[in-house]
Amino acid sequence: QTRIKRIASSIRVIPNFPKPGVMFQDITTLLLDPKAFRDTVELFVERYRDMRISVVAGVEARGFIFGPPIALSIGAKFVPLRKPKKLPGEVISEEYSLEYGTDTMEMHVGAVQFNDRVLVIDDLIATGGTLCAAIKLIERAGAEVIECACVIELPELKGRERLGDRPLFVLVEG
Ligand code: 5GP
Repeated sequence: QTRIKRIASSIRVIPNFPKPGVMFQDITTLLLDPKAFRDTVELFVERYRDMRISVVAGVEARGFIFGPPIALSIGAKFVPLRKPKKLPGEVISEEYSLEYGTDTMEMHVGAVQFNDRVLVIDDLIATGGTLCAAIKLIERAGAEVIECACVIELPELKGRERLGDRPLFVLVEG
């Protein structure tokens, strides 16, 4: 498909960032190509417009780039899932493990209701730990994760397997 090809070729790969041995998938070059950026948003909108999604939850930071235009187009709320101590209101927190150490993700209490149908969006899934934490936050609020969506999947890391039975939709593989 031509839209997917354009998106794939607009993503720049930077070797040895942020540390030796990592091939970093850089989506800032996708954002520099307005057609590729629009196609990315449109492919998600086409998939989700008829799925009765009530909330798009975006993972800090790059889920904040793709999530809002999708939420606006499908008429859903946008909920930011943030790094610790950024949200001013009452939060629920979920700790998750990184390669070295742990990180925490937070969501405002009340942002997601028990009857919400949630799409979780991020730019990339590697090990799946980040999306897992997002899923836990949303399910702790009593809502349903209908699907997770990323622009890029690194299939070798098998992050998809950590999501259990929540579907994962991606546009390209890295
Ligand atoms: P995971 O938790 O699945 O191992 O890692 C995914 C998270 O790390 C996402 O929030 C994603 O933004 C970030 N990440 C890891 N590797 C890359 C990469 O190569 N490119 C980009 N853009 N993000 C990455």
